[in-house]
Amino acid sequence: MLIDYLNHQLRERQAQGLTRQRRIAESPCAPRQRVSQRGQPARDLLAFCSNDYLGLANHPSLVRALAEGAQRYGAGSGASHLISGHFQAHAALEEELAAWLAPCIPNAQALYFCTGYMANLALLTALGGANATIFADKLNHASLVDGALLAKATLQRYAHKSLAVLERQLAACTTPVKLIVTDAVFSMDGDVADLPELLALAERFDAWLVVDDAHGFGVLGEEGRGSLSHFGLCSERLICMGTLGKAAGVGGAFVAAHPAIIDWLVQTARPYIYTTAAPPAVAHALRESLRLIQSAEGEQRRAHLQQLITQLRSQLAELIAALPTLGWHLADSATAIQPLIVGGNEAALALAAALDAQGLWVPAIRPPTVPVGTARLRITLSAAHSADDVQQLVDALAQAGKDLAGAQP
Ligand code: PMP
Repeated sequence: MLIDYLNHQLRERQAQGLTRQRRIAESPCAPRQRVSQRGQPARDLLAFCSNDYLGLANHPSLVRALAEGAQRYGAGSGASHLISGHFQAHAALEEELAAWLAPCIPNAQALYFCTGYMANLALLTALGGANATIFADKLNHASLVDGALLAKATLQRYAHKSLAVLERQLAACTTPVKLIVTDAVFSMDGDVADLPELLALAERFDAWLVVDDAHGFGVLGEEGRGSLSHFGLCSERLICMGTLGKAAGVGGAFVAAHPAIIDWLVQTARPYIYTTAAPPAVAHALRESLRLIQSAEGEQRRAHLQQLITQLRSQLAELIAALPTLGWHLADSATAIQPLIVGGNEAALALAAALDAQGLWVPAIRPPTVPVGTARLRITLSAAHSADDVQQLVDALAQAGKDLAGAQP
């Protein structure tokens, strides 16, 4: 019965162009990856999919630090943080993160999580009690959506970046605790939240601003400190979640905030308490990652990434203008996330397949991850890409675009 039902649902999804396939990467995360799928022979693809924005995921000094961490601490943590799984490497990483974020959040403390998804669930369920209202941007990441749904707080969603709607909601709110929750860089669009205006609203209405900096941490701001630093923000009302599996190249996440908030999370956040701590070797490698992000090499990587973003945007703008019948448009993004919006699910899949046939790997993103009718290729750039890689992507898109335009009725 259950299996019949599931098979029926799966067929429905397939008919709507919503089936998702996993590929198997057989080489490290890098622009050129050896990839196999469903028993087909492995192929070498030029990839524009990862969130490895600084190209650190396969950096020799991080690989070395991971091995060194394993030598020093073993393979696993053996327990949750509150039992016996909290190692020196976790503690040191948290201290370093807190010190680094302190220019944006005075007296910040930091807490390390196994994943960003868990950090967001922890944060919103622990702070969003029955006495709270969560105000959430409609395009927030799924982990923030899920955290808000799981929390006992009242949930109010506001249209993407609509400060006017948010202001009205805040003015009408009567709960003592108010949490404004937003992605800093929106994960499927690449645009940046109006953090200074959001913080001003938080201050005016005695609210807290929770910022998910998954895609800004390591990339934006002074020394890559993230989106808060990008805007020069500094306030005790800021609660920052950052992921460490994207620009930082390893895995996990952190929350940086007022010490009382961090203590409350340690005492009450179920996704923190009831899970085995990440291997301490991972935390050890992340300490090296933080060092790299802040170094001259980190600075060079950010500058190179910026050049690639500029190159891609100008070349794609020309291409889109040359192929108007396809209805493509480039999202308004200045970050490493450069979505090419094509509209229908089938159109996005066809374009991804046409690129695949030319040896490129760019993921098609479809509903429910993005709104219906806005299926897209989510192109992500990394400092590990070269200008030639970007040129190759643009050439492949030009070829695919001409073929698709030629096939139009
Ligand atoms: N927040 C945002 C905005 C994200 O894009 C992601 C990951 N895609 C997460 C949170 C979850 O982080 P993690 O992958 O570490 O679970």
